Amino acid sequence: MDDDEYKKLLESAKSQLPDEIANHERFEVPVPEVMVEGKTTIVRNFIDIAESINREPEHLLAFLLRELGTPGSIEGRRVVFRSKVPESLISERINEYIQTYVLCSECGRPDTRLVREGRILMLECDACGAKRPVHVKKGSSSGRGREPSLVPGNVYSMMIQDVGNRGDGVARIGKYIIYVPGTTKGSEVRVKIMTLRGTRAYGTVVNE
Ligand SMILES: [Zn+2]
Repeated sequence: MDDDEYKKLLESAKSQLPDEIANHERFEVPVPEVMVEGKTTIVRNFIDIAESINREPEHLLAFLLRELGTPGSIEGRRVVFRSKVPESLISERINEYIQTYVLCSECGRPDTRLVREGRILMLECDACGAKRPVHVKKGSSSGRGREPSLVPGNVYSMMIQDVGNRGDGVARIGKYIIYVPGTTKGSEVRVKIMTLRGTRAYGTVVNE
């Protein structure tokens, strides 16, 4: 189809939208550009994502680190996670952040601001004036809490705090107990999680 035809089609499609939607720019969050490089995961357009939702990159980062259970930092316009994180999980958590910290629950618009009132973080909507406290979800569909969730195959830094009955080193991260054979109490190790059953994990030391 030629350009004119396309424009006509677009116009007629627009005219069928309710005014409220047609009058607003569409809310578009860039799809995360994720690259796994060795043992790190890079989101190349991280700052673009933060800017598109009008939030502090550091705030979004802190949320992601907590939810993904990985260390990481902002480097230029990118974020670098110090572990392998599946792309789908990153998108999912960014969507969660948007639901929690960006979208107005009354009108669904993203034209909102975070305002602190005493100890309560409020989400104030510039579009409709609604105001609600930010409810940080305690546990999502996957049953995770706010604590970092261990992901089998990922590598975590931890300190061996104890030695179990069978001689394995024992470390704790949040609610998890991680058994690591061949380690001694007090040692700092990087551990790849091999199996995870509930809150018990078994890992092996990785040397880098
Ligand atoms: Zn609103």
